Amino acid sequence: MVKIEIDRERCIGCGACVNVCPVSLYELVDEKSRVTGNVDTCILCRACETSCPVGCIKITE
Ligand code: SF4
Ligand code: SF4
Repeated sequence: MVKIEIDRERCIGCGACVNVCPVSLYELVDEKSRVTGNVDTCILCRACETSCPVGCIKITE
């Protein structure tokens, strides 16, 4: 089971995660990233983690 944690305190709302996720799991809500899609569709590519400039996304299995 995949778990996605976003440290919304540190998110700067750049939208990188929104743009790179191939299954569109992220949306900006109040100028911060939030997972609004179905986490079960995550393909564990880790593009979100690596594209986040402040490293505030953590994916765990
Ligand atoms: S690991 Fe890949 S598929 Fe999963 S949330 Fe991040 S960008 Fe999307
Ligand atoms: S890439 Fe990181 S800083 Fe940018 S919106 Fe996503 S979580 Fe926030």
